[in-house]
Amino acid sequence: STLVVAIDGPSGSGKSSTSRGVAAALGLRYLDTGAMFRAMTWAMLRDRVDVHDAGAVGAHAATPRLTSGTDPDGPTITVDGEDVSAAIRLPDVTAAVSPVSAVPEVRARLLELQREVIGDGGIVVEGRDIGSVVWPQAPVKVYLTADPSARALRRAAEEGGADLAATEQSLLARDKIDSGRATAPLTMPAGAHHIDTTPYTLDEVIGLVVALVEA
Ligand code: C5P
Repeated sequence: STLVVAIDGPSGSGKSSTSRGVAAALGLRYLDTGAMFRAMTWAMLRDRVDVHDAGAVGAHAATPRLTSGTDPDGPTITVDGEDVSAAIRLPDVTAAVSPVSAVPEVRARLLELQREVIGDGGIVVEGRDIGSVVWPQAPVKVYLTADPSARALRRAAEEGGADLAATEQSLLARDKIDSGRATAPLTMPAGAHHIDTTPYTLDEVIGLVVALVEA
């Protein structure tokens, strides 16, 4: 299949669960580009690079070797052969990922890797700039949003019961950096279908996206 389904939106909008569910339902591969930015950030922290020094981050962007597994039932990511699937979700990585993601050399390196994984298609790709930058020719583009409180509730549950107010604060702070940065700001891509997931269950959102693909 040459199909590429591009799913963009802020964190906690239901992007990951929706993307995995759609890929599983349609027998497609799955790529989490946020995990690639997190893995790059994990490598910067491992190598003691100052994540607030854009020059240092840029100079280090070509160093880590990243591989992304694309099974929607068990996506994996490695850095220099080490499985970092769990480590990239820890708060130290989450706190550093926005400044690292804003560095042009990081985006250029990951863009190349992302296009390599997408290849001929047959994949659901989730991120912030998939429909706008990574694969603007995607035949199906979806932009997911949700109310901040709903997003915080989901993210806190994923993180095993983290503090709600603090989770919402951290989401909103990340939104602000992600949408205000000069390189690849988070915006709704041209031609995307906007779905506000707040009132829907996960299965309902998956059904809506599958229907768009099959339309
Ligand atoms: O989706 P997730 O919350 O894991 O993404 C982590 C961070 O990676 C985002 O806050 C954003 O800064 C960055 N990101 C990005 N472009 C993408 C995917 C993620 O800049 N395509």
